[in-house]
Amino acid sequence: MGVLEDLYQEALLLRYKSPKRRGTLPDATHTSGGKNPSCGDRVELFLKVNGDRIEAARFTGEGCAVSQASADLLAEAVEGKTIPEALELVRAFKAMVVEGKPPAPALGDLQILAGVAKLPSRVKCATLAWNALESALLGER
Ligand code: ZN
Repeated sequence: MGVLEDLYQEALLLRYKSPKRRGTLPDATHTSGGKNPSCGDRVELFLKVNGDRIEAARFTGEGCAVSQASADLLAEAVEGKTIPEALELVRAFKAMVVEGKPPAPALGDLQILAGVAKLPSRVKCATLAWNALESALLGER
């Protein structure tokens, strides 16, 4: 249970219960979604991109605390970033949760998801929104 306790730490549950970026963007320039059949997670991302910069990001969806908290943290983290900066964040996040590398300082609050790396069944939950972000920015659908 130690690993689960690490994973479901207070900060993550707080994010799940009180998301900061849940909602849609009527003037979104980029949208992308994804599903994780293994646990019923669904995430839809809305981005407003102006030139090279992500001016606003929101998400909707349903599913486990890990998937929804990860989407909320993502939306907050990419607001104000350029597209190359956001893609660099995707790489840093995946290095942490997929490869289990020590979190890069640039990840900030996203480090609360570091424990996911110890739970292979939850990696897809955590990366769902990030794969959607990559698809939205790179046009790979
Ligand atoms: Zn899940």
